[in-house]
Amino acid sequence: MNDVYEVVKVPAPVLKQQADIIGTVDGAIEKQLSKMLETMYASKGVGLAANQVGILNRALVMDVTQQGEERGQAIYMINPEIIWESEERSTYQEGCLSIPQQYADIERPASVRVKYLDEKGAAHELLTNAEENLLLNHCVQHEIDHLNGRLFIDYLSSIRRNMMVKKVQKLVKQDQHVL
Ligand SMILES: [Zn+2]
Repeated sequence: MNDVYEVVKVPAPVLKQQADIIGTVDGAIEKQLSKMLETMYASKGVGLAANQVGILNRALVMDVTQQGEERGQAIYMINPEIIWESEERSTYQEGCLSIPQQYADIERPASVRVKYLDEKGAAHELLTNAEENLLLNHCVQHEIDHLNGRLFIDYLSSIRRNMMVKKVQKLVKQDQHVL
């Protein structure tokens, strides 16, 4: 059994908070990232941001290439920043480990350029393209939103948003181990 974090669910205040810049990329951060990745795989997610495990630093993990039980290509991002976005938009039905069993079509820029550091502190850029990889394009923007205290349900009407939060609260009440 791998060591995993507990995934925080709405309406936890930590999900609405801005995460802090990581000043030094050290062994502790690398450990946090690998534990976040194990948590993400255990929860069958494709992305996880630090806020979702109750940590307010700018770290996220993604793997949009996994297939079933097979692990794919994990991406670790530290201090990710969107430095360019397209006018063109794309739509994808998003879900979130912090908002279990709730889904909605979300519209975002169809292409973004993201600057980030990897787990060793090396600088990288990722250019997404919805036509080539719709999931990656939405996932990276969804996870960066988390670091800014923003959830996909914040793009919906308040009526729809409140309904989803209530449903999650009910689910959590019924089963403490809900995914
Ligand atoms: Zn999420």
